[in-house]
Amino acid sequence: MATVVITPEMQRANAEALLGKDPGKFRDPGQRWTVKRYAEIQRLLKQAEADKPVTILNLNPFSLKINGGVFFPEEIAPCPPGKPYTIHLIRETRWGHKDLGYDAQNMMQMEPVPAIPLVLAAEYIREYVQQDGGFGGVLCYVGDHDPASFKKGAMIRVPEVAYNERGEFYVEVRERDFHETLAAIRKKRNSSILNRLQSANAWYENDSQRMNVNDTHRDMARLAVEEGLIPELPRWVMQANTLTDKQPEPCPSCAATPKAGAILCVNCGHIFNVIQAYKNTRIAYGAVEMDRLTAEEWKTVNQIKAERDKAKGKAGAP
Ligand SMILES: [Zn+2]
Repeated sequence: MATVVITPEMQRANAEALLGKDPGKFRDPGQRWTVKRYAEIQRLLKQAEADKPVTILNLNPFSLKINGGVFFPEEIAPCPPGKPYTIHLIRETRWGHKDLGYDAQNMMQMEPVPAIPLVLAAEYIREYVQQDGGFGGVLCYVGDHDPASFKKGAMIRVPEVAYNERGEFYVEVRERDFHETLAAIRKKRNSSILNRLQSANAWYENDSQRMNVNDTHRDMARLAVEEGLIPELPRWVMQANTLTDKQPEPCPSCAATPKAGAILCVNCGHIFNVIQAYKNTRIAYGAVEMDRLTAEEWKTVNQIKAERDKAKGKAGAP
């Protein structure tokens, strides 16, 4: 058998042939074969109306991602709080290829393999809805209709994954009521969210598991409050928000924790803020606490004193 060396130029030409570009430009019989197959398959897809766009709705507060494969380069954006879903459209068929090797005439055959929008969308349904432990919160339908325009009783065509007796999967399109399906998908999502929040609550109580509580849980909690599933945000959501606020230092004299902004310690009377204490006449000018002042702070204190002396002089006080 002859050894064929595939050059980078040939690889590039193969890749272009797989996208059916400019059929006239290919001299290589294998590439011409590929371009022809591409055109045939695309015509068949059009005839069968199998190349229609598909709409995916994400009701979840996290992005959707199908792992693995060139067919799923995108992430579907999370649903922001207060919105019913994000809308994602898959408009185009995506193409892969199957290397069929060489035929009897030593012609290399690369078969273009289409992944139509319907099949791509079904993968999201399988991952997020159909599979055991699927989260819910994802709905797909054929076409690019605005979901907000669906009236009561409107029917949609939903791609679902099914398996034949050999265990191979195929996509079945089912007619469903849009609003009923949306409600069912939302219900499944809500019960998944409550489940996850319950785990997060338990983890948070445990020192060794607390780190399992992450931003996705916090986003779920916010959505759960927004949707009225829980009455208020869990402690561990507040925690993340308040952690950045500076906590007051303990009192240097007695180690009690003061309230934020306190001028003096309620426990031992230690003055935290000397200038403020002087302004409030908690301490007198020259009090021992003033030994802690910097040169800059002395200026402020002396200014206050000068104004007070002036006021005193004007009033004619002794
Ligand atoms: Zn104190």
